[in-house]
Amino acid sequence: MTLSPALSQGRGRYIGRFAPSPTGPLHFGSLVAAVASFLAARAAAGTWLVRIEDVDTPRTVPGAAEDILRTLEAFGLRWDGEVEWQSHRAAHYERALESLRARGLTYPCRCSRREIADSGLVGLEGAVYPGTCRALALPSGPGLAERLRVDEQPVAFEDRVQGRIEHSIARDIGDFVLKRRDGLHAYQLAVVVDDALQGVTDVVRGAELLWSTPCQVALQRHLGYPTPRYLHFPVATHASGEKLSKQTRAPALDAAEAAPVLAAALAFLGQAPIAAGSPAEMLAEAARQWHPDRIARRAAQIQS
Ligand SMILES: [Zn+2]
Repeated sequence: MTLSPALSQGRGRYIGRFAPSPTGPLHFGSLVAAVASFLAARAAAGTWLVRIEDVDTPRTVPGAAEDILRTLEAFGLRWDGEVEWQSHRAAHYERALESLRARGLTYPCRCSRREIADSGLVGLEGAVYPGTCRALALPSGPGLAERLRVDEQPVAFEDRVQGRIEHSIARDIGDFVLKRRDGLHAYQLAVVVDDALQGVTDVVRGAELLWSTPCQVALQRHLGYPTPRYLHFPVATHASGEKLSKQTRAPALDAAEAAPVLAAALAFLGQAPIAAGSPAEMLAEAARQWHPDRIARRAAQIQS
């Protein structure tokens, strides 16, 4: 395994990242993730990486990644090093998958989404995979997914905002997909491999990904990777209580409004107000005053 320069030179250092999916422009919820991960890294005099999570190529919107990067720059969010693109990293994901496969930790699955939904087991993130193909010993091949054999042992980790999280993947998710029927590597595998190879020490992101974390921790353990520290801030919602996302048509951000939008992001994160100025000045001051312990555990609503 090749370690990134950041990792080989920087053991013990803080390496954070922002990892947007290019499915549309940056909205307020994703800006909060960028700001929080940026400030946490800068406050620790650490490195802040940007990774475009375009592993799910059918969902990628052409031009969205470039648009996100331009918006980050306009908001003063300057990243370190080169931007990584998951769509260029399939060989890394396949190597990790091969190491799991060689130890009998994966198996091919021929179930359709419909068949899994019809099993009637509902967990935290939709249907729980009932393990239909676990004992079938199907030969792997095109058109079949590949799943991780999940053990019954609950996975626990400490979150810097949410506290101790303990979670049974077997009960609530089931054996999860590492490689999809269409041959693409699954998000969970890609994120775990990227975080490890990029030497990420700290993951700061929204609580909509809180229930992905036990799956990622389980994969880290199987692959012999260190588990980063985690901080999940609450999810930004509309006044209606609906999650703010591209799906709910959250408005794209206007760089001309950077100062009030950054002020709103800092308020959402419970941070002290900062005098309006250029985005870079505001972020530098916010990094000096960064207090992750002021982040609320539960969602606040924003007007939109
Ligand atoms: Zn199956």
